[in-house]
Amino acid sequence: MARKDAILNLKAILVRRRDALRSALAGDLSLLKELRSGEPGDVMDAALDSAQDEISSQLAEVESRELASIEHALERMRDGDYGLCEVCGGKIPMARLNALPYATICIDCQREIERTGMSAASLREEAEMVSDEEEVDVS
Ligand SMILES: [Zn+2]
Repeated sequence: MARKDAILNLKAILVRRRDALRSALAGDLSLLKELRSGEPGDVMDAALDSAQDEISSQLAEVESRELASIEHALERMRDGDYGLCEVCGGKIPMARLNALPYATICIDCQREIERTGMSAASLREEAEMVSDEEEVDVS
C-alpha cells in the first residue's frame, strides 16, 4: 500500500477513535454528575463512590490526553504535515504510525525527549539552532 493510502486508512481509524473517546468522555461526565446529585449512602458506599470517582477521573484524564493527541494528528493531516516528525522533520516510518497512529515524533526524537526530559518544542528549537550553526559553517 502506498504511504498516502496507508495514511488515509489511519485517518479513518483516528476519526473513529476520536468519536468513541468523545462520547466516552461525555458519558463519564454525566455519570459523575449523577453520582453527585444522588443521596449520600453509608460510609462504605461513600468510600466505594470516591474510589469509583477516582478511577473515572484517572480514566478521563488518560482519555482526554489521547483525544488531544488524536486531534493534533488529524490537524497535521489537514495541514499535510502528518507522518513528519515535529522535531527533526524526518519521515516517521509507517510501522510506527501503524502502531501509534497519533505519533507526531519519530522514535529517535522520542528517545531524546525521554532521555533529556525536554519538550518537543524546545528540542526542535535546539535542533534549529544547530542547523543554523551548520549553515554558518558552510558559508
Ligand atoms: Zn525526529
